[in-house]
Amino acid sequence: MCSPQIIEAVRGEVSRRRALGLAGAAVAAGFASRLPGAAAQTATPVAAGGGGATIALGSYTQVQDLTHTITPETPVFPGYPQPEFETVRNFDEHGFYAQMLSYVEHTGTHMDAPAHFVEGLAFANELPVAQFLAPLAVIDISERAASDPDAQVMPDDVLAWESEHGALPAGVFVAMNSGWAARIDDPEAFINMGDDDALHFPGFHPDATALLVEERDVVGIGVDTLSLDYGAATSFDTHVILLGAGKYGLEGLAALDAVPAAGGLVIVGGPKFQNASGGPSRVMALY
Ligand SMILES: [Zn+2]
Repeated sequence: MCSPQIIEAVRGEVSRRRALGLAGAAVAAGFASRLPGAAAQTATPVAAGGGGATIALGSYTQVQDLTHTITPETPVFPGYPQPEFETVRNFDEHGFYAQMLSYVEHTGTHMDAPAHFVEGLAFANELPVAQFLAPLAVIDISERAASDPDAQVMPDDVLAWESEHGALPAGVFVAMNSGWAARIDDPEAFINMGDDDALHFPGFHPDATALLVEERDVVGIGVDTLSLDYGAATSFDTHVILLGAGKYGLEGLAALDAVPAAGGLVIVGGPKFQNASGGPSRVMALY
C-alpha cells in the first residue's frame, strides 16, 4: 500500500507532467536520449491516444502498438464467455481505483503457448524471454482476404516475401496481415459465422506453417484474426505444427498495416501466470 506522502508526491508529479504537456513518448524520448548513439537523433513526442509514436531508441524511430484494447464486447472464439469487468475499489469509497477481471486466456490480442495444444510442453510463463524480442516479418494477404474470407497464408506467400525482402532472418516472428483488425469493433463481422455454421476468417495454412517451423527459424507466428488456423478449418493443424514445435502464436493482432513488412522488431509482453496456456499480451513493433 502506498503511503499518503507517496500518493501526494505522485499526484504532484502527474499534474506537473500534465501542465507541461508531457506524453509517454516524451518520457521514452528522454530515456532514449541517454542511450549510447542516440544523441544525434531528435524525437518529436506525439499526442497520446494513437497507436503509434515517434521515438529515438537505438536505430528505431517509430513504435506501433499492435494490441487491441480488451472490452466486455471484445469478439471471442465461439463458446468462450465474454470478458467481465468489475470495479472492486473506487475513489468515492476507497480513495483509489481497481478492477477485477474475468476472461478466458485466449481473449483479445493474446498468446498461444505450446502447452495450449500439447500436454507437457511449455506454458506461456515458462517461455524464454529472448523469444519475446524478435525481428518482425509481415506477410500481407489483405487484398486476397478482402474478396475471400477463407484466404490463407500459403507457402508461396512466404517465398514471395523472401524474394522481395531477402531470406527470413533467424529467430523471426512472422505475422499475417489480412485486414481483419479493421473489423474489431464489429464482433459479428470479426467472428464471421457463415450460414453454413462455419467460421470464415483468414489464417496460416498448415503447409506454410510447416515451412516456417521446419525450414526456417521462427520464434512464432501471429494473425490478426481469432485463430492461427483459418476459420473454416475442421482441425487445428497449424496450431499443432507450431505449438508442437515449442513455438508460440499470437492471435488478434492489431495495426499490422501500420508497420513495415520487413526490418521491424516485435516486443511481446507475454503473460506470466502460473500454468498459462496463453493470455492477453501487449505487443509492440519498433521500426
Ligand atoms: Zn489462442
